[in-house]
Amino acid sequence: MNKFLVKYPALLRWLYPKRISHLPESGSIYLTFDDGPVPGITPWVLDQLSKYQAKATFFCIGDNIRKYPEVFQKVISEGHQIGNHSFHHLNGWKNPTSEYFRNVLQTEDLINKKHPKNPKPKMFRPPFGKIKNSQARKLSKAGFKIVMWDVISWDFDSNIKKETCLKNVIENAREGSIIVFHDSEKASKNLKYALPKVLKYFTEKGYAFKSL
Ligand SMILES: [Zn+2]
Repeated sequence: MNKFLVKYPALLRWLYPKRISHLPESGSIYLTFDDGPVPGITPWVLDQLSKYQAKATFFCIGDNIRKYPEVFQKVISEGHQIGNHSFHHLNGWKNPTSEYFRNVLQTEDLINKKHPKNPKPKMFRPPFGKIKNSQARKLSKAGFKIVMWDVISWDFDSNIKKETCLKNVIENAREGSIIVFHDSEKASKNLKYALPKVLKYFTEKGYAFKSL
């Protein structure tokens, strides 16, 4: 993805209609959090969400589930949805399809083991938004829905101002938007500023936050 591209490009929507970036459901907004679970950050996100009875979707890195199982359990026990973000945060463009596929399945096995009731369908978000057609096809055949986004906050970029991160979301999100934040150390400065304000702003506008 190009730097500072906040909205998911219409061309990509048209080229890859099966990749989900927006849901046509009235009155709802879909928050997603990538790269967790991470101690300190993920529990903070959960607290913010619970203040607004908001549900969200967490695209987890398998290796973080392995390292922080108690944080992962907390996400589940608070009723949020779990998605797959590969085991080692692989860049699809730089990895062969077979290896990429194995890495995703390794995470899926771990999710199923720790969360047998994880509702279907299986959801996968490619790290960096980078995935080859061959990888997307293989994952779709295996029953994964590929989830992209409508709006990305750029919270993970420490060079952007926290106010810009907030503006990215407020000015671009609409009904049915899938929004990307990151429950990671790197994003925490921008996330901690923007997330509470996003929750307040859209709640006051009458939207409900739902998981995918
Ligand atoms: Zn990621």
